[in-house]
Amino acid sequence: MRPPSTDHGGLPNLKFSFADAHVKMKEGGWSREVTQTELPVATTIAGVNMRLNAGGVRELHWHKQAEWSFMIAGNARITSVDNDGHNFVADVAAGDLWYFPSGIPHSIQGLAPDGCEFLLAFPDGKFSEDDTFAITDMFAHMPKEALAKNMSVDQKVFDHIPPGERFIFKVPIPPALQADTVGSAQGKVPLDMAFRLMQQDPTSSPGGWVRIADTRNFTISSDIAAALVEVNPGHIREIHWHTNADEWQYYLAGQGRMTVFAAQGNARTFDFQAGDVGYVPKAMPHFVENIGKEPLRFLELFNAPRFVDVSLNQWMALTPHELVQAHLNIDRQVIDALPKDKRPIV
Ligand code: MN
Ligand code: MN
Repeated sequence: MRPPSTDHGGLPNLKFSFADAHVKMKEGGWSREVTQTELPVATTIAGVNMRLNAGGVRELHWHKQAEWSFMIAGNARITSVDNDGHNFVADVAAGDLWYFPSGIPHSIQGLAPDGCEFLLAFPDGKFSEDDTFAITDMFAHMPKEALAKNMSVDQKVFDHIPPGERFIFKVPIPPALQADTVGSAQGKVPLDMAFRLMQQDPTSSPGGWVRIADTRNFTISSDIAAALVEVNPGHIREIHWHTNADEWQYYLAGQGRMTVFAAQGNARTFDFQAGDVGYVPKAMPHFVENIGKEPLRFLELFNAPRFVDVSLNQWMALTPHELVQAHLNIDRQVIDALPKDKRPIV
C-alpha cells in the first residue's frame, strides 16, 4: 500500500504478470504472451509462457526473430534443421536452455510423464506468437498444384491437409531419442542449440548464486544473454545497472522487491512473484531484494550477445576513497571496507 518514501515521480510501468495475459488453450497445451502490447516499455524482448502436455506439439514453424528458451519444468524434445542441412534433435529438461537463430525452422514436443512448461524470449518487444510461419498454415495457402510439383507427387496427396495453422496439437509420445533421430549427409548443426545451464559453475555466496549463459559459453545465442539468479531470504541482488541493453525479467519462484532509479529524482518500487515479468531500461540502477521466506529465483534477459553489469559497490571501492567520501558524507572506514571484487548477491 505504502511505497518507500524514496519513490518519486512518474516512471513507466515496469511490471506485467503472465497471470493477466490471455491464454490460448489448445488440446495438447496452452500459450500466453507478454509483448510490448501488454508491457509498453518492453521494446527489446517479448516473452511467451507455454505448456505442452505429454505428446503435445508446438508445430513445425519459424519466425523472423531468434528464439531463446528456459525449461521451467518437465521434459521436451526439440528439433531443427539449419540452412546448410545440418540437423538437430535433443531432449531438454528443467533448467536447460535452447536457441534457434532467426528464420531457422524448429519444433517442440512435450515428453512423458507430464510434458513440460517453458519460457520463450524473442529479441523484439513487438514479436507475437501469432506472427509465426507455420508449416500447416503454409501448406493451406500454397496452390495444391504447386505443392504437387514441389514434392513431385500427385495433387491427391494433399486432399486431407489441415485447413490452417494447428499451433499446438496432440500426437503420440515419440520414441526414445536415438530411434527418433534422422541421419543427415551434412551432419549435425555446428553450434549446439541446447545448453545445460545448471551444469555451469555458478558465482556463489551465502546469499545465493548466479549462472550466466551468453555467447562466451552458449555460443549460438547471439541475440539473448541471460543470468539465472537465486537470492536467499533477507538477501539482495546488489545495486547495479547494465551498460548494453534493457533487462527483461521473469520471476520463477519466491517474492521479490525491486526499486529502479530513473534519474531526475525519480524512482519506483515494484513487488514480484512467480509468473511476473519485470523490466529495467538500460543504465537505470536497481536492486532485487528477497522479501519472502523461500529462495527468490528469477531470470535476467538482455537483447545482447553478452551479460554485462556495473556494480555500485565495486565502482565505489575502486574510485579514490576521499572523492567518494566527499560526495556522500559516509565514514571513510565504510568506503575502505567495500569489496573490490564483484559480489552479485549480498
Ligand atoms: Mn518458435
Ligand atoms: Mn539487473
